[in-house]
Amino acid sequence: MAILEEPIKEVMVLKNYVGGEWVQSKGELQDIVNPATARVIAKVPYSTREEVDEAVQAAKQAYPEWARTTPLGRVRHLFRFKELLEDNFEEISRIQTMEHGKTIDESRGETRRGIENVEVATGIPTLMMGYNLEDIASGIDEYLIRQPLGVFSCIAPFNFPFMIPLWFTPYALATGNCMIVKPSSRCPITQARVIELVDEAGFPPGIWNVVHGSGSMISSALMEHPDIEGITFVGSTAVAKEIYRECGQFGKRVIAQGGAKNFMVIMPDADLGNTIPALMTSFYGNTGQRCLSGANAVVVGEEDAFYQQFKEAFVGAASRIKMGYGLDESVQMGPMQSKKAKERVLGYIEKGIKEGAKIILDGRKAKIAGNYPETCFLAATVFEDVTLDMTIAKDEIFGPVGNIMRAKDLDEAIEMIHTSPYGNEASIFTSSGKSAREFQHRVNCGNIGINVGIAAPMAFFPFSGMKDSFFGILHGQGQEAIRFFTESKVVIQRWW
Ligand code: NAD
Repeated sequence: MAILEEPIKEVMVLKNYVGGEWVQSKGELQDIVNPATARVIAKVPYSTREEVDEAVQAAKQAYPEWARTTPLGRVRHLFRFKELLEDNFEEISRIQTMEHGKTIDESRGETRRGIENVEVATGIPTLMMGYNLEDIASGIDEYLIRQPLGVFSCIAPFNFPFMIPLWFTPYALATGNCMIVKPSSRCPITQARVIELVDEAGFPPGIWNVVHGSGSMISSALMEHPDIEGITFVGSTAVAKEIYRECGQFGKRVIAQGGAKNFMVIMPDADLGNTIPALMTSFYGNTGQRCLSGANAVVVGEEDAFYQQFKEAFVGAASRIKMGYGLDESVQMGPMQSKKAKERVLGYIEKGIKEGAKIILDGRKAKIAGNYPETCFLAATVFEDVTLDMTIAKDEIFGPVGNIMRAKDLDEAIEMIHTSPYGNEASIFTSSGKSAREFQHRVNCGNIGINVGIAAPMAFFPFSGMKDSFFGILHGQGQEAIRFFTESKVVIQRWW
């Protein structure tokens, strides 16, 4: 078997990074377990409210000078940081696999998508420009300038421990703000490594801070803090709603991205040779722990032969996915991120069976490549005869479970999508431009895939979302992030 190079060799105790210093939290330590090997690889502190305040004070102190630094001066730090990310690309990716469980290729993909946000943010000298109009009245000109606001915070989920803080932080910094990142307490190690590179890149102290800890305590300390201007949150819908409400109450800007239940619509004219591999990545990539994961496959048409052909191809491909430790290059699917996450999904599988869905591929009995404990492993599972009233069709399962459903035509498939309270992503697989156009026009989801199973916007487009998948107005990434992190000031001038 291949030698699995593990960059984490001994149990590390994570520290906060505040005002350019590494600070050992006084809070309790929690174990971080590698879900493939079930070994403890780090300990993360649950920082105190006072420690959150210290980070905010450090950022507040650093802010005026950083805001005065020229845009070019600010992005020079980002260029150095980007080079360090490239130099450490493989190590960062391996850490993600060790703490999250995803395959090394999935981690590499995440690292690349994260770095792209740093690259886009280096364009700030042009991206942050305002606009003007001469002679709005005789001899009077008007122009708009964008200015930074102060200290922001980013509350991140466990499933993309490298990329998601980078949907926001490079833009916040490039526009002249300071940032406090709260990584997920389930996957905090990658951000700890990122912040070592931030330190090496020589950002001025207090610009970029990290405070580890428990979700509700840290988040409420940040939201209630009078010196925090705004919050970016990515996580489950229940928490996103809470964050949105509280930010409103405390008068803060907010981007709150929530959960999902994504429908993949397969038209009878879909090219199955290309569709099935795209669906495998969508449903089972990241072990189904993506906000863009496919959940309900809706096969369109009344023809049984097409349905059978699709079903056999889908189940056949899912059953061949090789499951094991993600650092093994030949592995196609890693474990769930934790034992608790696996148990949650097992509960859904049992519920699906109890509510009358037919399990046609049972991932509970699957084989693991290599000698690893079963603790977090759960293989690809497929249900058919799934109806919209079933819990497995409605709830976000966030695991490797796919439901196959049927619709008589595209209208019915779109109606099915619209029964969901979520609106993160929907995809159509078809060779008809007319169906694709109809789909993109009518479907109420923020991210639409056309023959694409993971419609993940690039860094220069906003990461969208609708309904219960997104609370706010401006989104993360690209121009919208720049607008979120800046105030638009309008000047009208006249000279006598
Ligand atoms: P989560 O909501 O449990 O946690 C997200 C973050 O919020 C973590 O940092 C956590 O510590 C903190 N937190 C937890 N409970 C909190 C509370 N009561 N108050 C304040 N903060 C709290 O989400 P998760 O399990 O880490 O991530 C998975 C979820 O994130 C899924 O629902 C997935 O769909 C969603 N997600 C959405 C997107 C998107 O772009 N819409 C992207 C990735 C993940």
